[in-house]
Amino acid sequence: MERYRRNIELLGNDAQEKILKAKVLIAGAGGLGSTVIANLASLGVGNIGIIDCDTVEISNLNRQYIHSARKVGQKKTESAKEWINLYNHFINVKCFDIKLDCTNYEAVVNDYDIIADCFDSYKSKFLLNEIALKTNKPLVHAGVSGFSGQVFTIIPHKTACLRCLLPDADEDENITEGVISPVVSTIASIQAGELLKIIINTGELLTNQLLTFDALKTEFKKIKFEKNINCPVCKEGEIYENL
Ligand SMILES: [Zn+2]
Repeated sequence: MERYRRNIELLGNDAQEKILKAKVLIAGAGGLGSTVIANLASLGVGNIGIIDCDTVEISNLNRQYIHSARKVGQKKTESAKEWINLYNHFINVKCFDIKLDCTNYEAVVNDYDIIADCFDSYKSKFLLNEIALKTNKPLVHAGVSGFSGQVFTIIPHKTACLRCLLPDADEDENITEGVISPVVSTIASIQAGELLKIIINTGELLTNQLLTFDALKTEFKKIKFEKNINCPVCKEGEIYENL
């Protein structure tokens, strides 16, 4: 427990026990995933699942700092697991080297209590939104594009979902590829803070409000929005388009 002394001074023993027992699924071991993984491993989250079907590329290393040049060509899940094992070998890490889809999500998601959206495409983010609602798992969404990013938290069937926020978004649209580490790690650190608050049930969550960050202006804004009663994903009698 000496390792977590500074956590415990702030949060208490009971909270640290909850953190050690927590089961968090991290969807994506790229830029957002690197910072979320580093934060959860530091906090002592005892069970971490990592989904990613990509391998480490040299162009990832401007932001994906848990990987390294030595790991180029290696599966990102395995590379992430090695990083966690070196940093905190008490953590139980499971790798899912798969592309999440309607046929495989249940076996992956069932063992976890909370999901972090660290994916990098609209298509995968909307799919994850549906999976979280269908399996009733809280989901912390995060996204980055250029110099800006956003975070919000979804408590299934209680608070607004990603489709409520973006009813007309085209899932096939591409997210701007240019991205820099300070923006990604800022957004992912806030995302990790939301995960922690869910685990220890403290503070106020970013539900029904989107936190946006503009790195050029160093400006944060909170934009309130409501659950859409006609949302095709989270209204009563929902229809899951992708599942
Ligand atoms: Zn919705």
